[in-house]
Amino acid sequence: MADAYDYIFKIVLIGESAVGKTNIFSRFTQNDFNLESKTTIGIEFSTAKTMTIEDKSVNAQIWDTAGQERFRAISVAYYRGAVGALLVYDIAKLETFQNLERWLRELREHTSPSIVIMLVGNKSDLKHLRAVSTEDAKAFAEKNNLLFLETSALDGTNVEAAFTQVLTEIYKVES
Ligand code: GDP
Repeated sequence: MADAYDYIFKIVLIGESAVGKTNIFSRFTQNDFNLESKTTIGIEFSTAKTMTIEDKSVNAQIWDTAGQERFRAISVAYYRGAVGALLVYDIAKLETFQNLERWLRELREHTSPSIVIMLVGNKSDLKHLRAVSTEDAKAFAEKNNLLFLETSALDGTNVEAAFTQVLTEIYKVES
């Protein structure tokens, strides 16, 4: 059967507006990148992708905010049932890193303590514009018990790896 899988895991993308959440989402789910920022805001959307994790078939349901964060109004439904999260900042924009505490607090308030969170420093291709050091991000991740990777939705670096690592960790926690 095409739709038979062993596990369904919900993963949410969060972080400041314009850090690249939608492009990480579309790079992973459709291998696509878009230079325009999106024009449609409103309801969150999700796409499922089936992956093999530790020999099991895992249906990953990835949720994107579709811009709700601009209004500081992520719905409770968005977080409901999430077992994983990608907490995204932009390595070229310091304030998106400085605001992580707030995102983490909101995430913790709305999800189970066992949620697997990966800190994602996106836009790693913008090397000449780097404003957040890898060391500072690593320290933040360690302090808060988060996985950590730097990605580029533009050139695809580490996007698949970010999801695979989160899903593997969720699998260990949930199975
Ligand atoms: P969101 O608001 O967090 O969903 O961010 P978007 O995915 O809409 O991206 C915001 C802007 O950053 C768009 O102009 C994207 O083309 C750009 N962008 C997203 N990811 C990357 C990346 O990895 N590298 C570069 N250079 N630009 C990116």
